[in-house]
Amino acid sequence: MPAYVGVDHQGIIRYLSNTPHPDSPAIEAVQGYAIPGFQNAHSHAFQYAMAGLAEIHPEGKADDFWSWREAMYQCALLVGPEEAQAIATMLYAEMLRHGYTHVAEFHYIHHDKDGQPYSNLAEMGERMVLAAQSAGIKITLVPVFYQRGGFGLDPQPRQRRFISKTTDDYLRLLEASGKVIQSYPNASLGCSIHSLRAVNFADIARTLDLVPMALPFHIHVAEQQREVMDCLAFCGVRPMQWLLENLPVDDRFHLVHATHLDDKEISGIVANKANVVLCPSTEGNLGDGIFRMKEFAAMGGRWSIGTDSHIGLNPWEEFRMMDYRQRITTHHRNTFNGDAAKYLVNEEITTGRRAMGITDREFFAPGQPLDALVLDAHSPLLSATSLKHILSSTVYAGDPHLHAGTIVNGKWIVRKQEHIRLDEIRAEFASAMRRLSTR
Ligand SMILES: [Zn+2]
Repeated sequence: MPAYVGVDHQGIIRYLSNTPHPDSPAIEAVQGYAIPGFQNAHSHAFQYAMAGLAEIHPEGKADDFWSWREAMYQCALLVGPEEAQAIATMLYAEMLRHGYTHVAEFHYIHHDKDGQPYSNLAEMGERMVLAAQSAGIKITLVPVFYQRGGFGLDPQPRQRRFISKTTDDYLRLLEASGKVIQSYPNASLGCSIHSLRAVNFADIARTLDLVPMALPFHIHVAEQQREVMDCLAFCGVRPMQWLLENLPVDDRFHLVHATHLDDKEISGIVANKANVVLCPSTEGNLGDGIFRMKEFAAMGGRWSIGTDSHIGLNPWEEFRMMDYRQRITTHHRNTFNGDAAKYLVNEEITTGRRAMGITDREFFAPGQPLDALVLDAHSPLLSATSLKHILSSTVYAGDPHLHAGTIVNGKWIVRKQEHIRLDEIRAEFASAMRRLSTR
């Protein structure tokens, strides 16, 4: 059954029906299936510059998350504002091609290469917003409070671009970031503590008391086993346990990774209606561990996905990784009850929107912006498939070749795999990468 959609000049849906509007002729007929745009709830844009560069492993030398992190620190010291913007613009264009229409940028490169604040405190954050504007993706800028070099440790010189010394320093940065986003359409603000290892516990509690209640709150937690062990050694409790016992954990919380949870922690997250942000391709690439997805989903846990280090940008692949890790370890196929594809897509979009600070639960409805990924009804697989199996065929057997394009605010930003400004964005990215000469 066809859908008839009318949008105004801002791309807001004004008409949605299975019959045409009597007074307005159809302008464009699309042979496809629209689903709401995916929400990318966790991004460190600059890390796209090093995607795939940390995969050569010399014999006899151990390589894990912590050695990868050293490579990441080197990359973070190289990028100036121009490069950061060019990298993020290319990345965001690629996200759009893969069907994401909104990104939460978990942003912690705040200062210049010497560790001094820019005269505009939010200079680097503003570059992320400019990149999003230029690529045509919506952005929630999440400035990150990063203070320490590890549990009880001073920051390292190589972390100098990240550091807010005090809660007040962070609040000034947050305020400056808030002013920036007011100057741009399609931009909003979140707030964040990097992780328990990166901020004094007393300052974490104080920050949470002082940031505006309406902002979504993001934090990395329990990504690595060593992080859990370090936290235990430092304070006697596990990271997620500390959060549950010491902070008013609620539905504002978006817990990034939350990979290593015990029974009490997993039920505590669900009972407090907190959300988890899973980053399956990055978590796999970094050898983090396996999130207890099957149990969490059965308990009604809320989650979204993020592409984090951007080693993978394909949402279908993220869903499959989540499901297949469970199938491989449980030896059962039914990770989720009922229509798994429908569950995965719905949950990602619904909780992903909340990670962006969007409280409205409606999406394809009058008054809402038309943001959509359109699947190509003429693709060989989908054209031979009944409506009942369109989504499951796409989630389990699809890739971006099934995409007809991506629409943001009622406008095609990507069509047939090509971003409308691809040539310009690609040239700026190539020039930035030549200057960095890391690839
Ligand atoms: Zn992260």
